[in-house]
Amino acid sequence: VIVECELKIDGNWSTIDISEALRLRRSNPGKMMLFRCPDCHGRLRAHPTYNSGTRAHFEHLRENIGCQLSAKFRHPAKRHPEPLD
Ligand SMILES: [Zn+2]
Repeated sequence: VIVECELKIDGNWSTIDISEALRLRRSNPGKMMLFRCPDCHGRLRAHPTYNSGTRAHFEHLRENIGCQLSAKFRHPAKRHPEPLD
């Protein structure tokens, strides 16, 4: 499960955790938040904790089996085909 991401703050990619990402999103309604995967640099979607019991986490918008943080990871490690830089 991915619980950390990178967010560009003042021009630099900084690591933040899922609770911080959700907090930033809540406090910046309507603002596009580009969360990227620390491993493959693909874009991530932030999910809050659901009533079903699923804990807050990130998920790739577009799965990348070459990402070492993906549950579907398969060698070799590969950068995301649409990386955020
Ligand atoms: Zn990734």
